[in-house]
Amino acid sequence: MSGLFSRSAAPAADFSHLAQASVTFSEVAKRYGDRPVLKGINLSVTPGEVVAILGPSGSGKSTLIRLINQLETLTSGDILIDGKSTRQLSRQALRQLRSRVGFVFQQFNLYSHLTARQNIALALKHVHGWRPVEADTRAEALLAQVGLADKADHYPEALSGGQQQRVAIARALASSPQIILFDEPTSALDPEMIGEVLLVMKALAHSGITMIVVTHEMQFAREIADRVVFIDGGHILEVAPPEQFFQHPSHPRTQRFLQKVL
Ligand code: ADP
Ligand code: MG
Repeated sequence: MSGLFSRSAAPAADFSHLAQASVTFSEVAKRYGDRPVLKGINLSVTPGEVVAILGPSGSGKSTLIRLINQLETLTSGDILIDGKSTRQLSRQALRQLRSRVGFVFQQFNLYSHLTARQNIALALKHVHGWRPVEADTRAEALLAQVGLADKADHYPEALSGGQQQRVAIARALASSPQIILFDEPTSALDPEMIGEVLLVMKALAHSGITMIVVTHEMQFAREIADRVVFIDGGHILEVAPPEQFFQHPSHPRTQRFLQKVL
């Protein structure tokens, strides 16, 4: 596994210094109907930190990060960005929040009828009011950063899964976010395409942006994360630097999880 990042299917992405913000969960709870899925979550992610979220399927990982940019609504508690509450935002404040927080989905979620360039430029033009030429220029610069300068006019169906996910990362970066969230970004990929996406994520991690990554890539968590969070049954059971997390997990549930996945 040591060659994970040297197996360089994509040119190493070069991100200039990106902005960063803190994210604080304060007594966050989430129910779907009557069903509690997150219970009393407290977690502070510091500016520029890279946090990996691990846990079994159904433990609430996706819900946890989707709450940050309000793809789901909180039941109780609060999530603060740079110390400011994100409860009861005006429409304009919500738009601003979403431009500060990029999100990368497991299934890419690119618009199939738009080219790579158009996928990235869309929100810049229609949400942020950029002039078309400037939005397209920014889209092309972002494509170059994820190693896809030659794919600007390609539609998603003409791209591999790894390339589509790199376009999705470029799109998430279009509004110059301070925080980027990844929900199992490599889980839908064929094994040979995982490395090229992890390589881009690794470069991003070193750019300074605050990053929260739900992942099953243990090697990535071990090498890249500043801290690992283990969640099960809607509770955070363990938070530790990767060295400690993987070598000396303190919670029996974490130990059992690691025995299964390592
Ligand atoms: P994970 O990402 O760790 O697999 P999720 O956050 O997706 O977990 O889901 C946690 C629990 O909440 C699961 O039991 C799931 O079935 C349930 N759940 C997720 N989304 C919804 C939803 N929109 N409506 C109802 N239940 C949901
Ligand atoms: Mg999930």
